[in-house]
Amino acid sequence: MSVLVTGGAGFIGSHTAVELLESGREIIIIDNFSNSKPSALEAIKKITGKDFKFYEADYTDRKVVEKIFEENKIDSVINFAGFKAVGESVEKPIEYYTNNIYGALILLDTMRKYGVKKFIFSSSATVYGDPEIVPITEDCKTGGTTNPYGSSKLFIEQILMDLYKSDNSWDISILRYFNPVGAHKSGLIGEEPQGRPNNLMPFIARVAEGTLKELSVFGNDYNTKDGTGVRDYIHVVDLAKGHIKALEKLEKENSGLFIYNLGTGTGYSVLDMVKAFEKATGKEVPYKIAPRRAGDIASCYSDPTKARNELRMDC
Ligand code: UDP
Repeated sequence: MSVLVTGGAGFIGSHTAVELLESGREIIIIDNFSNSKPSALEAIKKITGKDFKFYEADYTDRKVVEKIFEENKIDSVINFAGFKAVGESVEKPIEYYTNNIYGALILLDTMRKYGVKKFIFSSSATVYGDPEIVPITEDCKTGGTTNPYGSSKLFIEQILMDLYKSDNSWDISILRYFNPVGAHKSGLIGEEPQGRPNNLMPFIARVAEGTLKELSVFGNDYNTKDGTGVRDYIHVVDLAKGHIKALEKLEKENSGLFIYNLGTGTGYSVLDMVKAFEKATGKEVPYKIAPRRAGDIASCYSDPTKARNELRMDC
C-alpha cells in the first residue's frame, strides 16, 4: 500500500511517516519546507531504515500534484500540509484559505482524476469553537470558529462531507486533533517551529533551554481550577498511530466517512504543564502572568471514547 503524505517533513507528518513506514507501507512525501526542515526527512530514514520518494514542492501547485499521481501508484492520501498558527491566520486570511482550502481542493480533484479515493484529513478541535460542554464528543455542535485557521478546517470538513454525499465510494477519515505535543523517543524528530513558537510546549522548551527568557501565561482568570487555560495534550506518537488505525479502517471493504476526536480525555492547565515539564527535566521555567490571548477559550478536552472503541486507540 502506498500513501501520499503532504507536509510529511512537519511535526505530525514526520511522526506519522515513521509509523507508516514501520507498518510496512510505502510513502511518498511532498513538502515545501515552509515550516519544516530537510533534516526531518533524513531522520525519518534513520529511524526506520527505510527510503521513500520525496518531492520538494507546494501542494497547491496542481502541475506537481498531477505529476506525483502520474509517476506513482498511490492508494491513499494523508493531508498534513496546512498552515496552523492561529494568530498568524488572523493577519493573513487569504494565505490561510488559499493554502488550506485551495490545497485540499487540488488534492481531492487530482485524487478523483486518478481514481484514488481514500483520504485522511488533519482537522482540529478548533472546529468546535467555544465548546458548549467538555469533554467534547464528535456529535457536539461545530462552528463559531474564532479565526481563519479554525474556519479553514471547518470548511474543509464540510467540503469532505459534501464530496462523500455526492459519491459514497470515497473513504474519508476526519481526525480532530486536540493538542499534539512531545517527540519521537529517538529525539531525531520533534516540534521545531520556525521563529518564535506560538504553541505552549515548544515555547516552554525554548524557555527551559534559555533561548527565550520567560513564558507568558495567557490569562489566569478563566473559570478553571487554577484560572489558566485547560487543554488536552496528546503525545504526537499516539496521534501518529491514530492515523495508522484510521487508515486500516479505510482500507477495509465498505468503509465510509468517519470523524474521530484524537485526544486523551484529560485536561491539564498551563500551570500543570509548566510544573510537569520542570519535574521531568529538572529545569526551571520562569513565567509571568500576561493578559488573555485573543481567540482563546477556557477549557477544551475530548471525550475519546469513539476513537478508543472503533479504532482501538489507547492513549
Ligand atoms: N499558552 C500560554 N502561553 C503561550 C502559549 C500558549 O499561556 O506562550 C496557553 C494558551 O493560552 C492555551 C494553552 O497554552 O491555554 C495551549 O495553547 P496552544 O497555543 O499550545 O494551543 P491551542 O489550544 O491554542 O491550539
